[in-house]
This record gives sequence, C-alpha cells and structure tokens, in this order.
Amino acid sequence: MSRILIVEDEHHIADGLRFNLEAEGHDATVAADGDRAIGLLLRERRPFDAIILDVMLPGKDGFTVAAELRAAGQYVPILMLTARGSAADVLRGFEAGADDYLPKPFDLPILLARVNGLLRRRRWYAREPPSGEAPPREPAPDVYVFAGRTIDFSAMEVRVREKTHRLTVMECDLLRYLVAKAGQPVSRPAILQDVWGLAQDVDTRAIDNFVVRLRRYIEDRPAAPTFLQTVRGVGYRFVPQP
Ligand code: CA
Repeated sequence: MSRILIVEDEHHIADGLRFNLEAEGHDATVAADGDRAIGLLLRERRPFDAIILDVMLPGKDGFTVAAELRAAGQYVPILMLTARGSAADVLRGFEAGADDYLPKPFDLPILLARVNGLLRRRRWYAREPPSGEAPPREPAPDVYVFAGRTIDFSAMEVRVREKTHRLTVMECDLLRYLVAKAGQPVSRPAILQDVWGLAQDVDTRAIDNFVVRLRRYIEDRPAAPTFLQTVRGVGYRFVPQP
C-alpha cells in the first residue's frame, strides 16, 4: 500500500481518483488547494509516497506548489496534471520540480499506470521501504563515482566535496541513463522515450530543464559544463573524465 496525496479542487475528479486509487489498494488523501497540500506535507509532515498535483487550483497553482515543496527539501515524486496540448505547462511543470505529467482529461488506466511507475521508481531508489513492506536485506550500495563526485542512487543524492544535493526520482533516472551511456551522445527524443517513456507530442526542451538542474549539482561552472556536455543538434553527452 502506498500513500498518495491528490491535490485537486474539482470534487468529482478528486473523488474519482481517490475511489480508484483505494480500489487499487492505496491510501489516498485529497487536498482541495495548494495551501492545504503544503500544510499536510511541510507543516504536519504527513508521509506520502507520491503526489498527483493539478495545475489549475484556486490560490496557488500547481507550479507554485511543486516549486515550494522542492525548495523546502520535499522530494516526494510528483505527477502533474496539465492542460491538454499545452507544451508550456509541461515545461513549467518540469522546471518547477514535477517528475512526470499527464494532460487533462486523462484516461484513468493511464493515470494509474503513471502513478505506479513513479511508485516503482521510488521503491527502487528509496532506502526505507514504503509503508507495509518488509525492509530489504542489507541493500548493496548503488553508487557511481567520477572526478571526485559521488552519485548515490540508493540515497537519491549527489555529493560534491562537502555539498550534498538531493535528487528527485526523475533526476535519478536521467543521471543513471546518462551514466550508462557515458561518452556517447544521446538525443533528446531518445531521452524522453527511454527515461520518461514518452514517445511523441512532447516538447523535447523539457529535457533541458532537467539538464540545467543536474549541471548545478555536478559542474564547477554550470554555465560552462565539462561533464554534462551539449552536443549541438543532437542532445547531450555525459563525460566522466573530460
Ligand atoms: Ca483543478
């Protein structure tokens, strides 16, 4: 069982989601606006395994909520519900710290599959098991070290000298993908397909926001990157020893 927070002011959508998530065996909580969601997560410190966050909310919109959570060090996976056909929404969502998105109106089976995808990734990375599951036996450390930097996939963080940067699940997935393809150029469409499982209709600039964030973590000078290089006309290349 996973604990899922639904942030949505439209009651029929929120109730439908809650009903279906509970039918799947999850524990679902509804917050009707952004302040309530932030209150539950940051003030009451309620534990959640994933958030379904609508963009259109009274008061603070979904972008603001996501950005405030990330700024406060809350890294729970966020699936953002955006307006259909709005590439700008998708870009803003990723920029604000969302891990995945789904345009409205959505098909319920697709939404459930996306939520389960985020939960699986979180379980894969998280040291602590989700509620109701036995702890794994002495998990092997899952780290990658390069040029004095340590990517700790199991702790979901990057350590550079004395600084530690927490990672979201999609930042972790993207880093793992780039590390696995070290030295090779990878295209934006390939990244969207392989990391997000998104085949079409997505503005590939969405990737650029994630790369900007990763560069802030690993580069000495993010504006003049040496490890996470831009390959003009293609995409990006991770070079562990430039
Ligand atoms: Ca709404």
